[in-house]
Amino acid sequence: MSAIDDLPPLRDVIAAHGLAAKKSLGQNFLLDLNLTSRIARASGPLDGVTVIEVGPGPGGLTRALLACGAARVVAVERDERCLAALAEIAARYPGRLDVTAGDALRTDWTTLIRPGETVRIVANLPYNIGTELLVRWIETEPWPPFFESLTLMFQREVAERITATPDDPKDYGRLAVLCNWRCETKIAFDVSPSAFTPPPKVTSSVVRLIPRPEPLPCRGKDLSAVTAAAFGQRRKMLRQSLKPLGVDPAVLTDAAGIDPTARAETVPVEGFVALARALRALRTS
Ligand code: SAM
Repeated sequence: MSAIDDLPPLRDVIAAHGLAAKKSLGQNFLLDLNLTSRIARASGPLDGVTVIEVGPGPGGLTRALLACGAARVVAVERDERCLAALAEIAARYPGRLDVTAGDALRTDWTTLIRPGETVRIVANLPYNIGTELLVRWIETEPWPPFFESLTLMFQREVAERITATPDDPKDYGRLAVLCNWRCETKIAFDVSPSAFTPPPKVTSSVVRLIPRPEPLPCRGKDLSAVTAAAFGQRRKMLRQSLKPLGVDPAVLTDAAGIDPTARAETVPVEGFVALARALRALRTS
């Protein structure tokens, strides 16, 4: 029995179900239920909340979310070996855990949630698809999105790229502009490699993203285009790096009120939004 519920310790669950970690699925399991409870609590009080979890694995975070009071956990897991272990958790919490076997990258989340539910996404993401999933959530339409917040574990280096500002030029790039355009972002806390089985090579971080109700207006596709061009040649001045957009960079930067000799890493999110809007106006004029 564990400290948070009357289910067996995770080491026993893994042994009983033969869940040796597979690198190809980004499997680094958290076996300390105090730590998974800390992650669950980082998303705020869970009463009445439906949580979407990607990759529950043997269920360490799933159990913490349920023990912390989540009304329902909707989990998508690609590794079918984990389903029997997750069924035991579902039996312990009747009607509160719905597991779908499948690929998170092919999942339409809105089909898994019910009208009127307050939804949060909480996950210890498989590192190989973490950024792609995040970008898809950030590009959700319509906005504000179907989720109230994202509480996600990434490698520390990715967490720094998500939360970076022009004051952190090494990490500031497309990911930071996209994420901070639509969300407030923050690193909640770090998790050492030794907390995982097997331990990854690097430190991880739990990141919180809270959707802004009214992000600065622009089209996500245009913002993606200007950031891809600008950071594609991040050492060059904008008057050079924006050329692939197919409009005159001088006209574009002038319309956006941005210095054409600036480099991408010095332009704040508002500047990229202005460039995205100017690009749209030039392309439709
Ligand atoms: N939540 C568990 C924990 O904290 O111990 C496991 C986290 S482990 C880092 C990532 C999990 O995502 C694994 O269970 C893995 O099988 C699952 N996974 C990997 N790729 C996936 C995909 N495309 N869709 C859904 N789950 C996936």
